[in-house]
Amino acid sequence: MQWFSLFILCALVCTVLCDKPTKKPSSKFKTTRKPLQKKPDSKTVAVKPNIDVYKYLTKFGYNPCANSTKSKPTDESGPLCSTNLASMVEAFQIAYGLNVTKKLDAATEKLMRTPRCSLPDYPPAFTDRGKLWPKNRTLTWKLENSRSPFDKSKIRKYIQQAFNDWAIHSGLTFREASENAKADFTLTFANDEHGDGFPHDGPGGTLAHAFPPWDPRTRGTSHYDLAEDWSDTYDGVGINFRLVASHEIGHNLGLGHNTLESKALMNPYYQLFEPTDMLPKPVSKVLLRFINHPHM
Ligand SMILES: [Zn+2]
Ligand SMILES: [Zn+2]
Repeated sequence: MQWFSLFILCALVCTVLCDKPTKKPSSKFKTTRKPLQKKPDSKTVAVKPNIDVYKYLTKFGYNPCANSTKSKPTDESGPLCSTNLASMVEAFQIAYGLNVTKKLDAATEKLMRTPRCSLPDYPPAFTDRGKLWPKNRTLTWKLENSRSPFDKSKIRKYIQQAFNDWAIHSGLTFREASENAKADFTLTFANDEHGDGFPHDGPGGTLAHAFPPWDPRTRGTSHYDLAEDWSDTYDGVGINFRLVASHEIGHNLGLGHNTLESKALMNPYYQLFEPTDMLPKPVSKVLLRFINHPHM
């Protein structure tokens, strides 16, 4: 009887202990898929394993000496432009309203590991009002090339929805171009380097980029990283395509990044919005520049 009791006791202990999931050697940088019932405010965590902070900050516009001829040392006077990582981190923290520690603290690193738009934060986009889109005709868009991450008809539906988000606020109207017609806006999925100096970088990291209306060579184009885990759900699984498309179309219309307002659609970092709340109020302030514009 004693042995039987001992067996029952062991079985109970094992039920409590053995049913617990084995704790895996988890990495905070590991990509995980969220369960379907995840709340909409959660973020997908497709992140890069390592971040070179200097390169990262240079890429997004926080290195005042980048691309400067003054950064090259001369024999006579030494470098005319100098910067250091602490001041670059400080500029980033100020831009995003983080605590200014000048160090890669947890909050700063967390933000840097959030997927984002490929376009830099500085210099701010230049708005050439004379080259914005005309209001007196319907503007057209087209999904270019045959590659898309999921059902192409759904992608096209979400593109139209993303344009409609802006139509409400900008006074512009948009429709899909017919098959052989030239479109004002073109959207493309691609991998890696694709010819414009903004190479896609695989899952996580940067998601997409788009170009403003004042450069005739790139006007109206936007490029999406085919390697992302694109989705059309609002449960935190994958990267919601429509939300990213809405952000990129904002660039196509002439808007730059809004770093200080974390809930703004033009904030560079990916975040989930409810479909009914695509353009939260902070963005409306930015849109004021479109209102009463004589050429729109
Ligand atoms: Zn952007
Ligand atoms: Zn591109």
